[in-house]
Amino acid sequence: MIKVEIDTHSGFCFGVRKAIEAADRMLSNGNDVYCVGDIVHNDAEAERLRKLGMNIISYNNIEEIKEGTVLFRAHGEPPASYRLITNAGLKLQDETCPVVLKLQDRIKKAYKQLKEINGQLVIFGKRGHAEVIGLEGQCEGNAIVIENEAEIDLIDFNRPVEIFSQTTKDPKHLKRIVELIESRKEESITWHNTTCKQVTGRVPKLKAFAKQHDVIIFVGGKKSSNAKVLFAACCDVNTKSYFVSEASDVMEEWFVGAKSSVGVCGATSTPLWQMEEVAQRISSLL
Ligand code: SF4
Repeated sequence: MIKVEIDTHSGFCFGVRKAIEAADRMLSNGNDVYCVGDIVHNDAEAERLRKLGMNIISYNNIEEIKEGTVLFRAHGEPPASYRLITNAGLKLQDETCPVVLKLQDRIKKAYKQLKEINGQLVIFGKRGHAEVIGLEGQCEGNAIVIENEAEIDLIDFNRPVEIFSQTTKDPKHLKRIVELIESRKEESITWHNTTCKQVTGRVPKLKAFAKQHDVIIFVGGKKSSNAKVLFAACCDVNTKSYFVSEASDVMEEWFVGAKSSVGVCGATSTPLWQMEEVAQRISSLL
């Protein structure tokens, strides 16, 4: 009989768990809760909270809210968002992850120093991602965001450079980008691997888990940067790794040839209940 095992190290990181628990608590107390954008990059979990009464809004709708509490999710926000809530007279539940808050603070201080020497603050991250928008907001909108090697030409190589990474980025990719910049610049640059330890710490554990099973089913949201990084780690060690966003995505033919076990794992934004649903579906197909 083929065993189906859920990875005990997968699922919400403490930053996401803290934000979700706050949302659940506020909703169960009957509060009107508004969240700007999805609370987590996992459609199924966002939908669960929406059904409990969570309102998903955009900044353009804030002025229409007469009363209630706006929840800032773990990704963090730029200073302009705080001003918007204050000016609208709304209550704020700030659930920005402490790791992101610390990174925002580091970037703010670095930007201040770089300004004095005509330097450039570079963020290695996904343009338009909520966390990156929050980080750019610490630099009066003057940070240079690069997503890949091809974009390093956005940097002026004759001026000082300091780089930080979005908390979910692959540190190896950051290092390759730093080496490429240094090959084009006379002096070395200042750079910081600011990928969250909740992400990097999971990679070796996830690889060990993925190696133990014939087939790996990775559960994650399509918009989740963290899911992409962790799924790539599974693929590195197990070619029979598949990405799903819901239980119905699982295909029976993936298990042809499986001998002893199937592993189910997920991202820092994947709820345990969803991995359990996927595990049940797999069991029904085996
Ligand atoms: S991955 Fe790290 S930075 Fe991001 S929410 Fe989780 S604990 Fe915070």
